[in-house]
Amino acid sequence: MLTVNAYAAPSSTEPLAKTTIERRDLGPHDVLIEVKYAGICHSDIHTVRGEWGPQRYPLVPGHEIAGVVAAVGDAVSRHAVGDRVGVGCMVNSCGHCANCAKGNEQHCLEGSVGTYGAVDRDGTITQGGYSTHVVVTEDFVLRIPDALELDVATPLLCAGITTYSPLSRWGAGPGKRVAVVGLGGLGHMAVKIAHAMGAEVTVLSQSLRKKDDGLRLGADHYYATADPETFTRLKGTFDVILNTVSAPIDLNAFLGLLAAEGAMVCVGAPAEALAINAFSLIGGSKTLAGSAIGGIRETQEMLDFCAEHGFGADIELIPAEKINEAYERVLASDVRYRFVIDAATF
Ligand SMILES: [Zn+2]
Ligand SMILES: [Zn+2]
Repeated sequence: MLTVNAYAAPSSTEPLAKTTIERRDLGPHDVLIEVKYAGICHSDIHTVRGEWGPQRYPLVPGHEIAGVVAAVGDAVSRHAVGDRVGVGCMVNSCGHCANCAKGNEQHCLEGSVGTYGAVDRDGTITQGGYSTHVVVTEDFVLRIPDALELDVATPLLCAGITTYSPLSRWGAGPGKRVAVVGLGGLGHMAVKIAHAMGAEVTVLSQSLRKKDDGLRLGADHYYATADPETFTRLKGTFDVILNTVSAPIDLNAFLGLLAAEGAMVCVGAPAEALAINAFSLIGGSKTLAGSAIGGIRETQEMLDFCAEHGFGADIELIPAEKINEAYERVLASDVRYRFVIDAATF
């Protein structure tokens, strides 16, 4: 066992605090990663506060992890000491079910293992990336291309793949009109990625407050959804709408913005159920869909795509002692556009 520094939530109601945790001894297929950076995802906050179900505490969150390989198990073939690597939202799966066989480990029929707060296949509870080191089985460790700096690559491991996968699946590219709803951590990555794929990109945000940012990130157009005129002007416009907002929205109004046979894909997760009128889908033969991260192969493809196009996330680098403050700022949408923690401060 390796005892390492970490930041953990002692309970659902207390702030995160410095602590130490144990990392397992390296098995034959394990990789020991010296964490350099850990991103703060909105899900970390929901999870540590018990808003997505009861948790075991102390809980170390963090599923956007970038670092360097410090040691490898005897049978590891995919990674070597010194490699620049990343870990995203999952660290294990059964490896043999129909979905794993297709490379969709996130849909493992036996349950993929979340990077923190989950029961691993050996029965232990996983602890996440707000820590100086992590041990992960080699198949769930990604290569971070040299063209990407580690700090800006970190948020790609969740926010990047969460937006890349649906944009790729639903055909964002030249000649396609893509709308991104919400310009936060997920939304800003969606704009960069859809633009790099060659689509015509529109941001639909509540106000025009971040318009300059949106255009700088690669959007061609920017509209405020608080203005009812937006819904009249853009009726029937988009081939794909990617909804990154985790607050309730009027789905019927947004479906009205889709062109015939267009698709609206939800990656934001409001706690409340949303009402949908069947006629919003029937007229124009539209699709309402969801998307969950991406498999390991597709996550590597996304990292390589971002490196090839020369972009990572827009980040604010913080020391660990600012985590609790950063959580409040994420909840207030006061971050441009992802907090990344310097792991040297854990
Ligand atoms: Zn996340
Ligand atoms: Zn499986």
